[in-house]
Amino acid sequence: MNQLYVPALDAAPREGALRDARGRHKRKLRVSLTDRCNLQCLYCMPEHPKWLPREQILRRDELVRLVRLFVTELGIREVRLTGGEPLLRRDAVEIVGALNDLRSIGLERIAMTSNAVRLAPVAGALRQAGLDDLNISIDSITPERFHAMTRGQVAPVLEGIAAARAAGIGVKLNSVVIRGYNEDEVLPLVRWAAGQDVSLRFIEFMPLDGRGLWTRDKVITEAEILEQVGREFGIERLPRTAEPAEYFRLDGRYRLGIIPTISRPFCSTCDRVRLSATGELYSCLFSEACRDLKAPLRSGADDARLAQLVRGHVWHKEAGYAARPGYVERPITMHHLGG
Ligand code: SAM
Ligand code: SF4
Repeated sequence: MNQLYVPALDAAPREGALRDARGRHKRKLRVSLTDRCNLQCLYCMPEHPKWLPREQILRRDELVRLVRLFVTELGIREVRLTGGEPLLRRDAVEIVGALNDLRSIGLERIAMTSNAVRLAPVAGALRQAGLDDLNISIDSITPERFHAMTRGQVAPVLEGIAAARAAGIGVKLNSVVIRGYNEDEVLPLVRWAAGQDVSLRFIEFMPLDGRGLWTRDKVITEAEILEQVGREFGIERLPRTAEPAEYFRLDGRYRLGIIPTISRPFCSTCDRVRLSATGELYSCLFSEACRDLKAPLRSGADDARLAQLVRGHVWHKEAGYAARPGYVERPITMHHLGG
């Protein structure tokens, strides 16, 4: 079931839309704005994070130049800003505004993934600048449990969710569920999100945490989530979409999502690539290799050269997590690369 078609790895194409040797087209780019964060989620941050030196982080002009290249030369149509916490960048609204100018050359959607701690005061400005969608992480709505998971306060997050919805930004909530930590939050979260009529997706715990907490048995799988939800709601599985999430209709009215990265990997249809805050291109969350774009960018490489580097790297994209189950030792963790 996890076997993927693996054609010979020929030389990368010189032009056309971005694709890899396994026939997967890339339409989505995730850009980490910073490795810094104001929370310390136990499934993400190391116990003692060491922040990257600021001069290594891409400046706004560099980042926008790279995204422009991905849009014009490489066929990217959707950009998601992530981190670390993207709203720790003082120029987050300006970055969204600069990306908004790329719509005329083909960019279709601008999204962000945020912990929402700093969202409420800037939600309107983000929408005005051009932000379409926000994925907001929330693993519990009770203050004590939220604090235990993140070392932060839930109140500003709830305010941020309300402000983003009021501003007209499309909001989805993301929850990571870990056995022994918050699996009893599944039903309370579903009840709350359904009551608010806000989208909720559970994400299976991935082995990319900064403190080596992950073990296979801590993953609360899609099947286990459904078993819990089924005690209270009628469940109808919906047809697959192009998204990694599986969707379910609860009691004929509310749509719940689950991203089953571990129990049912979707690597064979992956359509995304990732740029770290320091300008390294990763073609997969689980990649061990990356392609540095910052050094050539800063030493004056033109767009043709940068596009060639990107094509060459993405062409060799690995089969993905599906092909390598088990713990994955990686040189980079989620807060550095961006989930
Ligand atoms: N700080 C922002 C946030 O938390 O939404 C953006 C960055 S965070 C790394 C992006 C997403 O990765 C979040 O939805 C978070 O829940 C998810 N994430 C982080 N570590 C994870 C892990 N080990 N397994 C599954 N999802 C994880
Ligand atoms: Fe920060 Fe997001 Fe990682 Fe939590 S998941 S520590 S909010 S980067």
